[in-house]
Amino acid sequence: RRADALAAKSDDVLRSPVLCVLGHVDTGKTKMLDTIRRTNVQLGEAGGITQQLGATRVPAEAIIQRCGRVKGFTPEKVKIPGFLIIDTPGHESFANLRSRGSSLCDFAILVVDIMHGIEPQTLESIKLLIKRKTPFVVALNKVDRLYGYESNPQKDIYQHLKSQNMNTQLEFKERYEKIVVEFAEQGINVILAPDNKDVNEYISMVPTSAQLGDGVGNIMAYIVEHSQKYLSDRLGYIEDVDCTVMEVRSLPGLGTTIDVILVNGTLKTSDIIVLTGTDGPIVTQIRDILMPAPLREIRVKADYEHYKEIKGSQSVKILAKNLDKCVAGLPLFVCNRTDELEILKKDAHDQLQKALTSIKKKAEGVYVQASTLGSLEALLEFLKTQKIPYSNVNIGPVHKKDVQKAATMLEHNSEFACILAFDVPVDREVQQFADREGVRIFQANIIYHLEDSFLKYREELRLKRRRENEHLAVFPCKLQIMPQNIFNARNPIVCGVVVVAGQLKKGTQICVPSKDSIVLGTVSSIERNHDNVDVAKTGEEVCVKIDNTTGEAPKLYGRHFTSEDILVSRITRESIDVCKAHFRDDLSKADWQLVVELKRLLGIF
Ligand code: GDP
Repeated sequence: RRADALAAKSDDVLRSPVLCVLGHVDTGKTKMLDTIRRTNVQLGEAGGITQQLGATRVPAEAIIQRCGRVKGFTPEKVKIPGFLIIDTPGHESFANLRSRGSSLCDFAILVVDIMHGIEPQTLESIKLLIKRKTPFVVALNKVDRLYGYESNPQKDIYQHLKSQNMNTQLEFKERYEKIVVEFAEQGINVILAPDNKDVNEYISMVPTSAQLGDGVGNIMAYIVEHSQKYLSDRLGYIEDVDCTVMEVRSLPGLGTTIDVILVNGTLKTSDIIVLTGTDGPIVTQIRDILMPAPLREIRVKADYEHYKEIKGSQSVKILAKNLDKCVAGLPLFVCNRTDELEILKKDAHDQLQKALTSIKKKAEGVYVQASTLGSLEALLEFLKTQKIPYSNVNIGPVHKKDVQKAATMLEHNSEFACILAFDVPVDREVQQFADREGVRIFQANIIYHLEDSFLKYREELRLKRRRENEHLAVFPCKLQIMPQNIFNARNPIVCGVVVVAGQLKKGTQICVPSKDSIVLGTVSSIERNHDNVDVAKTGEEVCVKIDNTTGEAPKLYGRHFTSEDILVSRITRESIDVCKAHFRDDLSKADWQLVVELKRLLGIF
């Protein structure tokens, strides 16, 4: 059927390309979207981080208006009906736009701060775009930060840059060239859009100020031209439904609704649709199709227009029964014939299983649960950069069986016996069950908050374990007796020593390697310049008191050992293991070298 549809399509009828904005945090992604849409939702976002879903349709007229002054741009050139821009920038929404393994995002804007160049999430975005084979343009944003830059959003950016004073132009050139090198280091060739003669070789860059509007017309014009020239095959409208669920939301009076991006094809009320649910495929019938007016956005204003039928590309809200368990980030299928139903149900089921099993997990790690596949992927990507391993993942509300799975970590590594629940509910009953099992559940709607609470918990655990093990941790040290400072020769031995190497801690057992490793006792106090201290460092001269705690006859200075003998802390296999597990960073490199030396001296293998 798809082949028929493809044959029937005509390049004259193009649909709107679906656009996503990606890039590092604070590069100006939200500002860029705002400026393209000319609304201002940025100030209202939670913590400045946008995590809601929705899309904005920017009609051709709005594009034409914006591109009026762009050199070489004429209104007649615009064949696409507009842009469909995903409102939430970032990985999550990009990753949610999937259908049968490929991306529904047609074109992306990768925002790079011209003052910062390539940053960690720029790299992540590039990787994601390349993996999904999505074409993109780089917005070299914040050009207004160049020293002496004079803004004029009405002008063509390339001409306008040439009219800046010499120093501004020089700074632009320097920063631009630096970024070209940074991209080259990643194996990517970039060049200013007007100089790009080969889009297969080079990615175009457009200088912009999302804040002031400079260059935004140029970037829009570039996307129009590029998509019409190179993506017309993909954008040719066909009667085959390509639709993905972006968000599942419960609304007062409407019940659970889904926001979908219909990229291609037609949706009608009374269509039978098949969706992926957390408990298996969902088959339901479209009751109503709601759409926001152009250049307005679902969540800003909730006045909907009702539609009997819509054609892609559009972002719409669908009302139907049984949507509660629907999983966002996966396709919506329309069932045209009854004999298709079973195949589509299997498809819907496989989509989720395939996505979940393809995620690589570690044997030991936290349990991660999220509301959508996109948010799950974004969270996992983030955990990877934070070096937090995960052993299992799931989509949807946290159930008892999730807790049970997370509880298996108690036997392996108890700090991982926890669930990071992102934007999903946890019933009280499940929470109580988790408390009984000893599984911690962290809940948040912002990825960073989830990470924060996990790291805080991990730090608490670490400190607790240190406290529990402190008495077992023996720090390595090597002491030289100062023969002129022997204050008491036998129990307690009180004498002056120089810490030749390592750290001398109160509570450390001291022994004499050169005398069959006889144990003198335990350091019960350390005095430095008549002050009591807990630790003496390498090079310090201190007075120590060593109590006989061996249960054997006390050792006598002058008979059992002399100032010729080096004293060392009595480390053991166990104490070394404890240090490695809980006090690794308390010991310097030299300290660890001393551990190796003492192991040899004391015959520890
Ligand atoms: P996001 O995290 O990538 O979405 O970045 P935002 O759009 O929230 O922008 C981060 C900060 O940079 C905000 O304070 C913006 O006002 C500012 N900003 C964004 N674009 C520009 C720009 O073109 N020029 C300047 N000077 N500031 C900008």
